[in-house]
This record gives sequence, C-alpha cells and structure tokens, in this order.
Amino acid sequence: MRDEGLLEKLTQIWGVSGYEKAVREEIRGIVEPFADELWEDAVGNLIVHRKGGSPSGKKIMYAAHMDQIGFMVKNIEDNGLLRICNMGWNWAGSAYNEKVIFRNGTIGVVGCYGPIEEAGNKIEKLFVDIGAKDGEEARRLVKIGDCCGYFGPYLHLAGGLICSKSLDDRLGCYQLIESLKENPGNLPNDIYYCFVVQEELGCRGSKVAAQQICPDIGIAVDITPAHDYPNDLTGSNRVGAGIGIKICDPSVVADEMVTGVMEKLCADNGIPCQREVIDRGGTDASSMNLTGAGVRTGGICVVTRYPHSQSSVVSGEDIEAGIDLMNAFSAYDFSADIQ
Ligand SMILES: [Zn+2]
Repeated sequence: MRDEGLLEKLTQIWGVSGYEKAVREEIRGIVEPFADELWEDAVGNLIVHRKGGSPSGKKIMYAAHMDQIGFMVKNIEDNGLLRICNMGWNWAGSAYNEKVIFRNGTIGVVGCYGPIEEAGNKIEKLFVDIGAKDGEEARRLVKIGDCCGYFGPYLHLAGGLICSKSLDDRLGCYQLIESLKENPGNLPNDIYYCFVVQEELGCRGSKVAAQQICPDIGIAVDITPAHDYPNDLTGSNRVGAGIGIKICDPSVVADEMVTGVMEKLCADNGIPCQREVIDRGGTDASSMNLTGAGVRTGGICVVTRYPHSQSSVVSGEDIEAGIDLMNAFSAYDFSADIQ
C-alpha cells in the first residue's frame, strides 16, 4: 500500500458522527500543503480544492466521510449503567460484550438487559458499563449526550486482508488524501476532495458540501458490504476482487456515463474492478445526486466484510485500486460526455 501507516492512524482516531473534529484536524494537517484552496464549513466539512488546467474542465467532487458509527448516552442510571441510543446504524449483536471508548478516554463494555438472543436489534436493550459503582460516580466521568465508539487495534489477517474498526470510512479519507497527493495540478478537471461529516446519520455533510461546490460529477468514496461470506451470499461483491464501481443501491442509481467511464478507465489501466450492486444501505452519492439541479453521480466502493462492526475486513489491494481509479477519473477529459 502507498502509506498503510496513515490508514492505520486514521482508523484509530475517535470521531463519532457529529463529533469529527479530531479526524478533521489530523486530515487538515496532512492535506494543507497540497491544496490550492481549502476551507471548513459551518457543519464541519473539510473541503480541499485542487485546480484544473483546462477551461473546459469539469468540477468533480469526491466525498469521503470522517464520522464513525457509535452510541450516545441518553440516560445515566442510579446504578451507574448508561442507557444509549444509536449514532448511525448499529447491530446489537455486534456491540454486545464489546468495548467502547468515549472522547475523554472513559472506557466501557456494552451489556444487555436480559439475554442478547431476545434483544433483536433493539439498542434500547443495551447499556454501557463503565465500571462506576453508582450513578454519582458515572456522572463524574460521562454526561448525557456524550458519545462512545468502538475501539481496538488495526490488524493484518491472512491473504493480505486488513481488520479494523472505522474502516468505514477512514479508508475513503485515506484514498482521497493519497489521490490528492498524486494530483499534479494541471489535470483537465477541477477536483474537490471533501472530507464530510455525519454520513452515518443520513448523508448530511455531503449535502451541504455539494451545495457549495455545485459539481458536475459527484463521487462517493466509501465502503460497501461484501457478499462473499455466509452473512449474505446473495450478491456479487467480493473482497479482493477489485475496486467496486457503484451501479445501484437503494439510495441512488449511478449515472451510466460515469460508470461507463470508470469501467473503461479500469480496463485501459489494468485496474481490477467489480460492478457493485447492493439492496441495503447507501452512501453520500444519494445526497450529491439530488443537489441543486441534479448532479451526475457515482461511487468508488471498497467491498467490506462485517461492516458497521469493530472488526471490518477489507483488502489493501482493493483500497489501492480505488486510488488508481480516482487518479484516472480525475485526469479524464469529459468534454465529449458533458456539454
Ligand atoms: Zn460509510
């Protein structure tokens, strides 16, 4: 990989949806030397503009989200246990017995009121135990409205696979950073690398970022669920089979010109790729698509096993192929495709 140390570092930063500041500050420090223009907006998006060299060039917006799923404390019981609610989509079975960490470093374990088998996916059946002996001690460490998220090490599995928390979507942030670094600055297109907030709460950051940029093309750079393990064998997404080119998900139908250009660029440049279709979930492509008078939209997706868990699994080669595709797409002349 180009800079696996950076990917690892990004996955380990605390940044539950709505509270992405530490992630943003880390990224800002890295990208600033490569930006022609850079700004943070009112909701916390970090937008990096690298100017193109052609008057007929198009505006391409890449969006990767900085936030990770987590939980918010909604009540503190007198026995010291914390009642929680979702910040993004969580699976109770994945959270159960797992460790979580608050921004102030307080660590807790997720437990269940009663048997986990009877909890379904009801997050209100879960609690966080920070070890406090009573409510008074708990309130000294945690307030109502504080958030916690998964934590744990970045690990290597067999077959060159990576296992970590928060690969969704720090790997997209990593891809944007690496592609920005490799943008020579005289490409036909104006490129906007957008590190956006609150995707997990409904693609909120990308919506306002797109309104500021008014892109010709918007590309979500994110993960997508795998279908190559027993959790779901009905689709075709395979880890290690190349970068996913989004065709469709329940929130967006990718633009056929965009997907056609991506497939051609992969074929021409020997970039491994796969067509990506999912029937659950969505990405920032949906909000960019419906911005202003409409935006041609696509997605560059890394196929991921165990998504929205503390143990997501991806292929480093798929991640790198995604950067290669971004580079080729950024350099493509769209003047014959978009009048
Ligand atoms: Zn995501």
